[in-house]
Amino acid sequence: MHDHEALPMVPIRSARGVWLQAHDGKRYLDAISSWWVNLFGHAHPRLDAALREQIGTLEHVLLAGFTHTPAIELAERLVALAPNGLTRVQYADNGSSAVEIALKLAFHHCRNRGDAQRTQFIALAGGYHGETLGALSVTDIPLYRETYAPLLLTPLTAASPDASLAEPGESARDVAVRAADALDTLLAEHGASVCALIVEPLVQCAAGMRMHDPEYLRRARAACDRHGVVLIADEIAVGFGRTGTLFACEQAGISPDLMCLSKGLSGGYLPLSAVLATEAIYQSFYDEYTKLRAFLHSHSYTGNALGCRVALEVLNIFRDEPVLARNHALAAHLADAIAPLARHPQVRNLRQTGMIAAFDIVDAHGHAFDWRERRGLHVYRHGLERGVVLRPLGHTIYFMPPYCITPDEIDFMVGVAREGIELAIA
Ligand SMILES: *Cc1c(COP(=O)(O)O)cnc(C)c1O
Repeated sequence: MHDHEALPMVPIRSARGVWLQAHDGKRYLDAISSWWVNLFGHAHPRLDAALREQIGTLEHVLLAGFTHTPAIELAERLVALAPNGLTRVQYADNGSSAVEIALKLAFHHCRNRGDAQRTQFIALAGGYHGETLGALSVTDIPLYRETYAPLLLTPLTAASPDASLAEPGESARDVAVRAADALDTLLAEHGASVCALIVEPLVQCAAGMRMHDPEYLRRARAACDRHGVVLIADEIAVGFGRTGTLFACEQAGISPDLMCLSKGLSGGYLPLSAVLATEAIYQSFYDEYTKLRAFLHSHSYTGNALGCRVALEVLNIFRDEPVLARNHALAAHLADAIAPLARHPQVRNLRQTGMIAAFDIVDAHGHAFDWRERRGLHVYRHGLERGVVLRPLGHTIYFMPPYCITPDEIDFMVGVAREGIELAIA
């Protein structure tokens, strides 16, 4: 709160494409997709038009005993696009709520199949799944979690497959195998009391864009199967083309039992989320009322018609335009633009997965800066001065731009970050 005495909030009047425009007329390139939600740019003509059409037709109706075309069509389209085996959709209205639903579904599914002793979750070191108490319980970022720790569930923590934890001579895949072995050990000891493992596939975003080899997901899938554990893929940040494929799980060739979607789901327009589930999970709840096996969970705005309609238009854009192919070209340009940073003496762990790129800044001796030094704040401040929204996570600087960014805009964004680094390490 103190920071804002020197850094007042920037009031944004309008936005178009990658550019935000402030009330004083200054423009800012949205290099972080407004916290990872925006896909195709701000004020996208097709998304605007879809929303306009839906307003005036149906804005919202309860999704209990009633339904509507956008909710039905969106569910059908998501099931068709999702990894094999995910056949059912439960809506909610934000990412944290989707995670709450997935955790409750996993536990309740085990209970429905006669496994009520499975009351524990396994979460990864450095994982982030949201701010509500259940989602925060499976989050392992002390800054967000520690204050509330006395209120939270205590999951088992499995080693992160983060490739930057490689020992000398180890490849990203080696780290993934090592982490999967540790997961096996954890499951061998506690497997019978565990209902679910929750992971962020390929990129642990909030932890500082920590990336891992897909081999981890293949091995985690197999380990969950061996131990009767539900695998929850939290694709809230990595879904919808961010990592190079529509869903990150595709790169490992696996299907989770539950998949959480939000953020890009509605193109950055409206709060909406969905949890996709397997038929086996769905069927374990399917029974007569008096058996009390049903999943009693709803939010007032579950499956909001405006959100569903704009999400459908997002999928239409993926259908009609070569979004992933264009992203591959942009990601290649981004890779070239950041490549020189690999030679910078105070840059470490330069990494990229699709449209997400990141690196860490270190002190002159190659050691991590103390978090209290807040060197990233210099990069943030410099970005604001030069008109780029860069929002480092501690001493990790990252880029996650909307997919409509141009090669020139990528060069500008990376150039401003490079200037920022020099100020930050000075
Ligand atoms: C942002 C995020 C969430 C939480 O979503 P909200 O809509 O902010 O509640 C959960 N998991 C991951 C991986 C996220 O990045």
